[in-house]
Amino acid sequence: MIPPIANRFVAGDSPATALEHVRGLNERDVKAIVNLLGEHYDDREPVESDAAEYRRLVDDIAGSRLEACISVKPSQLGLDLGEDVFRSELADIVDAAADHGVFVWIDMEDHTTTDATLDAFEEMAREHGGGVGLCLQANLRRTRADAKRLADVPGKVRFVKGAYDPPADVAYTDGARIDQEYRDLLEYAFDHYEGGIAVGSHDPAMIERATALHERYGTDFEIQMLMGVREETQYELAEEYEVWQYVPYGDRWMSYFYRRVMERRENLRFALRAVLSS
Ligand code: FAD
Repeated sequence: MIPPIANRFVAGDSPATALEHVRGLNERDVKAIVNLLGEHYDDREPVESDAAEYRRLVDDIAGSRLEACISVKPSQLGLDLGEDVFRSELADIVDAAADHGVFVWIDMEDHTTTDATLDAFEEMAREHGGGVGLCLQANLRRTRADAKRLADVPGKVRFVKGAYDPPADVAYTDGARIDQEYRDLLEYAFDHYEGGIAVGSHDPAMIERATALHERYGTDFEIQMLMGVREETQYELAEEYEVWQYVPYGDRWMSYFYRRVMERRENLRFALRAVLSS
């Protein structure tokens, strides 16, 4: 059971509850990115267990004909145990997903994982000619260069502001600067990418920027938001644009929930209200 403090952001503790949530979204024209919660494993057992669950999930998504894909975390697939472990588990999932035509996103974790994540994504995306997407964080100083590197790689790129708290030598820490980076990255992507742009933000200013760039360059894009955040807006945007909701499930909700609370005080107030009324 997911406690009331977290259940606004987490779609239950099983694949069945997550897919039920997805069905409701699809009925409102919102597609879903399903994520099994889990990260930073320091032994092989949970890595293999989560990887197996993702392969089953891909089967279930294909079998139920839901408009859904999956999103995985490198440290969930064993990056802390070694790049070879991560790559091999990721390759198995991407192969299984490709067989079923299900898209695989790779989340971006803290800045120490960026190189390994980019390299694995590039290899996988080139091998499969697409079918895979990677997240880039606007708060990292390196991201403009990474966005250029990915311009001719098949697959999609999700742009986010960044949910981790990297040190100032590798990251911008001022919110206005991060927003400016985000705007510039979108401009670069709409100008240079042939599609495959995902705007992973709840910020009305960034959504507006993306729609204006779409008008100017004609490049396709999708909007991605998290479960539990601006959901009415998601449904409204879905009347005009392609909208995907990121749907986490599973009982390892603590770190994910912590990041949501840290990025917005209102999320903490909501969580506390849920506890007090339970
Ligand atoms: P913020 O800068 O937090 O807020 C800007 C404005 O947006 C606010 O002023 C408000 O107007 C509006 N807003 C934001 N939240 C709310 C709310 N709860 N209610 C009402 N209005 C709100 N980060 C990573 O580091 N790696 C990842 O792989 C990753 N994947 C993500 C996938 C998706 C689909 C999304 C949506 C985010 C992901 N993130 C990821 C998180 C991201 O980096 C940000 O931490 C998070 O999205 C908050 O930034 P923001 O752009 O949404 O808006």
